[in-house]
Amino acid sequence: MAELRLEHIYKIYDKNVQAVTDFNLHIHDKEFIVFVGPSGCGKTTTLRMIAGLEDISKGEFYIDDVRMNDVESKDRSIAMVFQSYALYPHMTVYDNMAFSLKLRKVDKKEIDRRVREAAKILGLEDYLKRKPKALSGGQRQRVALGRAIVREAKVFLMDEPLSNLDAKLRVQMRAEIQKLHQRIQTTTIYVTHDQTEAMTMATRLVVMKDGLIQQTGAPKEVYDTPHNMFVADFIGSPSMNLFQGRLTETTVILGEHSFPIPPTYLRVLKEKNYLGKDIVLGIRPEDLQITAADSPYIFRATVDVAELLGAETFLYSSLANQTFIARVHADSNLQPADVVTLAMKEEKIHFFDPQTEERI
Ligand code: ATP
Repeated sequence: MAELRLEHIYKIYDKNVQAVTDFNLHIHDKEFIVFVGPSGCGKTTTLRMIAGLEDISKGEFYIDDVRMNDVESKDRSIAMVFQSYALYPHMTVYDNMAFSLKLRKVDKKEIDRRVREAAKILGLEDYLKRKPKALSGGQRQRVALGRAIVREAKVFLMDEPLSNLDAKLRVQMRAEIQKLHQRIQTTTIYVTHDQTEAMTMATRLVVMKDGLIQQTGAPKEVYDTPHNMFVADFIGSPSMNLFQGRLTETTVILGEHSFPIPPTYLRVLKEKNYLGKDIVLGIRPEDLQITAADSPYIFRATVDVAELLGAETFLYSSLANQTFIARVHADSNLQPADVVTLAMKEEKIHFFDPQTEERI
């Protein structure tokens, strides 16, 4: 059982660098939390404060209702997995996994039990006598995970653990870490700047920018209802298309095009006084589809680039002098300069305030 509470946490390195600002999060037992955001947004700093490798400048941090701010790292029941694996090159796989337990003077038989069990979970039984240099990148990463597992810690912290692996192995290890979590269910916090990793692994995402949480929620919830333009742009690949436009009483104007305001939005736009004002319309690439049907949300566009990805094609084009991407079926077989009719899915249209960049 491990529940973590971070209350009004700040990290101020010096008066010029406030790396984390008013970070509030309640992590429940067994959750797989992913901190995601661009480089420098404060993910690692937050993780290091949780690990006890960095002082907390301000705020309170609890594990299971015990205040941890001043508890030493080694006494926090936390196991950390780093990007660099941090394996001891002169030790065997077995000894790498056993090392922290030996330091803690755990009984030899108990060490053996835990190492063998972790090796079994991770498929490392045949490699226990090897040294790290005789292992592949994926196997090394598994040893690093094994070292965390044998600790039987309350919390796992993982800082970009897959970024040294090639793309294919990363996908494999992503699935392995998920399986591992399903099996041992240790509360985990995972840091990445890769939104695909974040979307596929998290039970809950924490999207960060400039030291501030932008949004917390299940991946689908964040994807479907991004709280602001930053999240809309950062989560999802390719990113959500964002168009500068203007509202009349009943329509959205994008350049020479005009579309009805989706009825479900009309009331809120009116109540919040956006009618007659500038607006940003968001639509995800997969919510723009080639159509032959009539709809008030259709427009014609000239293909600039068509990128075939196998099952689907990314069409690059522009609407009202603003570039966008549509994600269509590969069978469409389109070429540059082709003219297509695209339809926006009415229920998938998003609106943002151009000033605050917040969702309306
Ligand atoms: P990345 O994905 O690149 O690792 P991150 O989101 O993990 O980025 P942090 O490493 O937490 O970001 O850094 C947050 C901010 O704090 C950055 O502006 C960084 O330059 C700054 N920072 C980090 N460590 C220190 C330090 N020891 N002293 C001063 N500033 C620091």
